[in-house]
Amino acid sequence: MTTITHAAAGAALGSLGLGSPASFLAGMASHLPLDLVPHWDLKRTWIDTVLTVGALGAILIATGSSPLFWGAAGAALPDLEHLLPLRRKYFPGHGARHGRALGRKHALTQAVLFAALAAAALRGLR
Ligand SMILES: [Zn+2]
Repeated sequence: MTTITHAAAGAALGSLGLGSPASFLAGMASHLPLDLVPHWDLKRTWIDTVLTVGALGAILIATGSSPLFWGAAGAALPDLEHLLPLRRKYFPGHGARHGRALGRKHALTQAVLFAALAAAALRGLR
């Protein structure tokens, strides 16, 4: 799953009324199942990184150190290893158990999932 979609899932979890530490843990816990399902991944990691850092920055500016921010940060955190020069992946969903890669047409599926999760996160702010 793209990191920005993970961040949206974590933000949605953070909007459920949990505290910041629980939102961070819930966000991290959401990462594995989203990486295990078959999905499309953005090949250019830098684009996903820019989008995710921008989203986290926007959430931080808009909500401060909120459960929404910490949920998003926790959900995005495991993908940090994609940016490191590691010989192998350590997060359980990034190795052999990673979900089957789907073609480009499934980018739309993920865009819809992202939009739904981002909308859920924003609804939770009200
Ligand atoms: Zn991942």
